[in-house]
Formats: sequence, C-alpha cells, structure tokens
Amino acid sequence: MLIKRIKTFFKAFARHAENDFTKVPMDTWSKRFNLCMSCEEIGNTIPETCKQCGCVIYLKTEWASEECPKGKWKKYEGK
Ligand code: SF4
Repeated sequence: MLIKRIKTFFKAFARHAENDFTKVPMDTWSKRFNLCMSCEEIGNTIPETCKQCGCVIYLKTEWASEECPKGKWKKYEGK
C-alpha cells in the first residue's frame, strides 16, 4: 500500500510539474474537496486519502492536472 501511494504521488507530481504547477481557483478546490469528503472512497487516514488512487486529498484537489478516478470531478482546464 505504501509503495502504491509513493508511486501514485510521484506520477501525480510529474503531471502537476508538466502543467506548470497550476492550482485550481478556491471555488473549484472547495467543490472538489467537498465531493471527496462525502465520497465512499475516502480513506480513514490522516491526512485523508482516496482509496481508489491512494492520493492525499488536499493535494489532489488543488492540483489542476488531477481528476477523480471515479469521474466525480474532472481535470481543471480554466473553465
Ligand atoms: S478522488 Fe474521487 S473517488 Fe477519490 S475520494 Fe475523491 S471523489 Fe472519491
């Protein structure tokens, strides 16, 4: 599990770097974060992680290049 989370983090970080470290606006972050917090896939960890992808929620939700593995929210493209 730890190895999977490390691999997932580095893949997500590489996408974030390739996307010029772009973060989403606060309102988009808030919508994403609230969807995650009410999702059945939220892990019982601190910090909270997604059981589908293993990502740390507060990072995953602020990076524009990320998207929900279950399609609940999409990659941010400035819209
Ligand atoms: S990223 Fe998607 S599947 Fe994972 S906790 Fe958030 S809403 Fe649920």
